[in-house]
Amino acid sequence: MNDDAELLGCGPLLQSADSAQRPLRQQVFEHVRALGRVPRVQVAKDLRVSPASVTTITSELIETGFLEEVQAPRPGETSRGRPAVALQVRPGVHHVMGVKLSDIHHTAVLADLSGQVIATAAMPRTPGQLSVDMVAEVTGALMRQLCAEAGVEAASLRALGLGVPGFVDTDSGLVRWSPILDMRDSDLSTALAQHFDLPVHIDNDANLVTLAELWFGAGRSLSNFAVVTIEHGVGMGFVMNHRLYRGAHGMGMELGHMKVHLDGALCRCGQRGCLEAYVADYALVREARTALNLPDLETRSVRALLESLFSQARAGNPAAHSIFRRAGRYLSLALANVTNLFDPQLIILSGERMRYDYLYAGDTLAEMKSMMIETGRAAPKVEIHAWGDMVWARGAAALALETLTEQMLGASREMAAQ
Ligand SMILES: [Zn+2]
Repeated sequence: MNDDAELLGCGPLLQSADSAQRPLRQQVFEHVRALGRVPRVQVAKDLRVSPASVTTITSELIETGFLEEVQAPRPGETSRGRPAVALQVRPGVHHVMGVKLSDIHHTAVLADLSGQVIATAAMPRTPGQLSVDMVAEVTGALMRQLCAEAGVEAASLRALGLGVPGFVDTDSGLVRWSPILDMRDSDLSTALAQHFDLPVHIDNDANLVTLAELWFGAGRSLSNFAVVTIEHGVGMGFVMNHRLYRGAHGMGMELGHMKVHLDGALCRCGQRGCLEAYVADYALVREARTALNLPDLETRSVRALLESLFSQARAGNPAAHSIFRRAGRYLSLALANVTNLFDPQLIILSGERMRYDYLYAGDTLAEMKSMMIETGRAAPKVEIHAWGDMVWARGAAALALETLTEQMLGASREMAAQ
């Protein structure tokens, strides 16, 4: 993920086919944000509209404080040349906050409308499931920390993006189920929106890490790619035609619960034979207890148990090695299924478990290729991105920015004005 977001821009670099239906104002703004700094004439060329239309629209966007002019050296010219005027998103306005709640620690970022991250915060958490009040309390504490660091008034925040693991109905904001919440069908977005007097957008964490790749990472110039996350559970996000695919109810792409075995191992969702039941932490721990010959009353944390299993596998313990190898084979089966269904250009494997390289060793990837239907196409590239937790919070900020931009500059603004 680039550190020069303020120079290189953020957001998808290529526009989807349906983006031409958005108001030109929004297209121009998003194009400038994606490129970071760009002259008017280039915007007109890229969007295939007349320079006169771009001039009219950019004047409006400058007047309303969304864009500003900057002097930028012409490419290939020495400093003596007269600098060209370029456009960029006005920094330091319309701040949003992105939060990722997890079972280890909570993370948050504060970003401005240009997508630049201005402050980050992390907070360890106590074990146990969270109530809605506790989520509000944690989010409030992170908000105060971020705003103090950035020197921004909390009251000036424009939107909050929030990521939680589990099943999230993005349209309604209902969290159907999350391993970190103490209730089902929780109307978390309404509760938080009332508490903070802010628009709140919730999505599952795998979608948000995918959005982070689409906005800030390898996915910026790709039209179709998958991000598979392996953390406590297994998740997936999929970008289809430059946009995050969410399904009819915002709950698609539950790769962790794709069945890979009829009447197979029991999954924490209550069903049998799910991928998670073979690849997730708790599946490895279940087998680790046997392989490491541990008493039933073993009280080490999941993390410590997995570390111990991993070091034994490295040291040549055949039982420990076979546990990772089997998990890797199930993962290859799932990746082959994803490829056969969706034909992505790239599959990004992300998450903390990527430290366990057995999960994506050469033989795992070879096995994936052997299960792909033979069509003559090349297998998708598989990349490992172990960005750490902050990228998930950055994805949550991207969700908030995407929605805020749509509200301020999109077709919904015109409809609201009618
Ligand atoms: Zn399941």
